[in-house]
Amino acid sequence: MSGTPAPRDQRLVLATHNKGKLKELRELLRGQVPGLDVDTQVVDAAAAGAPDVAETGVTFAENSLLKARAVAEATGLVAIADDSGLAVDVLGGAPGIFSARWSGVHGNDTANLNLLLAQLSDVPDAFRGAAFVCAAALAVPGPDGIAHETVEYGQLEGTLLREPRGEGGFGYDPVLQPAGMDRSCAELSSEEKNAISHRGQAFRALLPAIVSALSEADAR
Ligand code: IMP
Repeated sequence: MSGTPAPRDQRLVLATHNKGKLKELRELLRGQVPGLDVDTQVVDAAAAGAPDVAETGVTFAENSLLKARAVAEATGLVAIADDSGLAVDVLGGAPGIFSARWSGVHGNDTANLNLLLAQLSDVPDAFRGAAFVCAAALAVPGPDGIAHETVEYGQLEGTLLREPRGEGGFGYDPVLQPAGMDRSCAELSSEEKNAISHRGQAFRALLPAIVSALSEADAR
């Protein structure tokens, strides 16, 4: 055997099964990392053979790190993950990490949104502040577990409407009107939403760490 190391797999794994998030991330990374072909080398958890990870943390940061670490360890690849939700001022930050299952059923967007609107029906407009919040984590695998990890945050502030408006987006998009706008998130184009979104901000903040992790991987 020669001492030449095997070519390293330079894929970047996004710890999600959500194709929309994968598409968003590819657009964000396009042209940012020298030599990285985002369409073939930025992949989701299923494509990398990574397991589903239980979100047992109690903060967005913990959950994003749990997912990024588990996928990096399982695949030996640089991994990133996000965790996000809606934080409502008068509810002390709830639904928060429980946003996807606020009504008791995981992923039932309509039931979650209707329950929230009913809970807030008596709250005057001046007190209907809320924000989408996101933590995005990067985990770099090393010879003995995780060699390096980073978390960045993003926040999209706004006001909760009294009725859903718009057909686009998902989750609580129809009831959050970003500050300074007269449309709900569900009335924005995906480009408009991505430009200001909590997830876009968090992933953009993580970009330098992603670039340096992939460049280091490349140099090994
Ligand atoms: P996750 O980050 O995919 O786990 O998202 C958790 C939940 O937060 C989603 O199911 C939505 O209910 C809510 N959420 C997160 N980001 C958004 C957004 O951009 N628009 C609307 N709802 C969101």
